[in-house]
Amino acid sequence: MTAKEIRQAYMDYFKSKAHTIVPSAPIVIKNDPTLLFTNAGMNQFKDAFLGNAEAIAPRVADSQKCLRVSGKHNDLEEVGHDTYHHTMFEMLGNWSFGDYFKEDAIAWAWELLTDVFKLDKDRIYITVFEGDEGEGLASDDDARKYWLKWVSEDRILNGNKKDNFWEMGDQGPCGPSSEIHFDLRPQEDRDKVDGKSLVNMDHPEVVEIWNLVFMEFNRKADGSLERLPAQHVDTGMGFERLCMVIQGVRSNYDTDVFTPIISEIEKHSGVVKTRDHKSLVAMRVIADHIRAIAFAIADGQLPSNNGAGYVIRRILRRATRYAYSVLDMNEPFMFKLVDVLDREMGEFFPEIRSQRTLVESVIQEEESAFLRTLEQGLKRLDDIISQTQGKVVDGAKAFELYDTFGFPVDLTSLILREKEMDLDQAGFDEEMAKQKSRSRAATKMSTDDWVEIRKDAREEFIGYDRLDSTVHVAKYREV
Ligand code: ATP
Ligand code: MG
Ligand code: MG
Ligand code: MG
Repeated sequence: MTAKEIRQAYMDYFKSKAHTIVPSAPIVIKNDPTLLFTNAGMNQFKDAFLGNAEAIAPRVADSQKCLRVSGKHNDLEEVGHDTYHHTMFEMLGNWSFGDYFKEDAIAWAWELLTDVFKLDKDRIYITVFEGDEGEGLASDDDARKYWLKWVSEDRILNGNKKDNFWEMGDQGPCGPSSEIHFDLRPQEDRDKVDGKSLVNMDHPEVVEIWNLVFMEFNRKADGSLERLPAQHVDTGMGFERLCMVIQGVRSNYDTDVFTPIISEIEKHSGVVKTRDHKSLVAMRVIADHIRAIAFAIADGQLPSNNGAGYVIRRILRRATRYAYSVLDMNEPFMFKLVDVLDREMGEFFPEIRSQRTLVESVIQEEESAFLRTLEQGLKRLDDIISQTQGKVVDGAKAFELYDTFGFPVDLTSLILREKEMDLDQAGFDEEMAKQKSRSRAATKMSTDDWVEIRKDAREEFIGYDRLDSTVHVAKYREV
């Protein structure tokens, strides 16, 4: 099956189960102070779960464009290095708002994967919530019971609160989840059973494909739980991962979601992806990032120097840097890849088609400006490195590079790390502070878009990560 057929089959299946198919919400969020970008299918239904709004229908399904590059879900650094985390991805989802619950959700997930998509049952593993005594949470015996109708006991594993219990925030709807994982390991590895379990769920080739959340409780302000008057289902399945397992390949980039983009990159660069590992990673990064950038722009987020716009600009620059330094591309070319997105995705996501001209011209302009910066800055950085004795590059010199060339300091650090060198960050900060006090109009800080008020995340603020003189990113650690 092609990717298009797989997406359609998902919609058809849930339509046959009386679901209303709805369009994806935009990837850019303008009216939620807790989020910059849509990062899960349920975002657009949040108010229905919270009881603030009526659900549009009791059963709904869709494919939601998601972007996980900031806040609680930040997968940016995985991209290109692993084969199944993207910045932008499609999350297929089906929902029940007070309608069906665990038994149907489980039966349908199983039927869709094994009957419609014909996945190998021997490679599927399920995790169910094991309970948490300290929190007074019972194990999800109902889910286990319903899974046992389809799956043998040794394929159902326990999952802890972190992976298998979902909460929207400190208060509000929450409940256990069941995850479906697919084992991509080659047969000879799968034969090496370790005695306790058939599979090591932490193995990088055992991939989570679908998460079924069963919202059955309400967490009250005093921390106690009560059963919700009506129970809901919220599921999310990575579309690109689903295509990978159905198409029998071992990387999302080998599915036809990405191969047309990668072929186009090969065509423009004259490099084949198999040249070496670095080229392969660069092509994956570019193929991934162009989707994120193009869809964000199509949904109204232009690259800029602060907030969500700066996130998009950084993603674009990250891709440009790979293209420039690994594939020797010193002319803008990523804008030409929008054509492939239009061809492959424009039917299902009409915004990429209708906004195409704008998207192309914005990307081209950004690419060409950043390439100029890169050329000048990289030359200067080479000089600085060759003049450096030892392994630590002078902070004042890095500051000059930043100040006169607009060369991003995080890029300087990255390049130095690759050469096993370090930046004298304290020296850099000192120069920055001096410049600020010199400048009469003290640099305006624009933190508001970045300081995510994530009341729903169990995270602890650990400080600011400076990206340039005007933009600071609040960094959190999960607690
Ligand atoms: P993972 O553990 O692999 O990071 P997750 O538990 O963070 O995934 P969920 O929040 O449960 O993911 O999202 C539902 C589904 O979306 C996942 O089961 C997975 O198939 C898919 N998914 C999540 N993050 C990504 C990503 N960065 N790129 C592609 N697909 C993703
Ligand atoms: Mg994740
Ligand atoms: Mg997970
Ligand atoms: Mg998950």
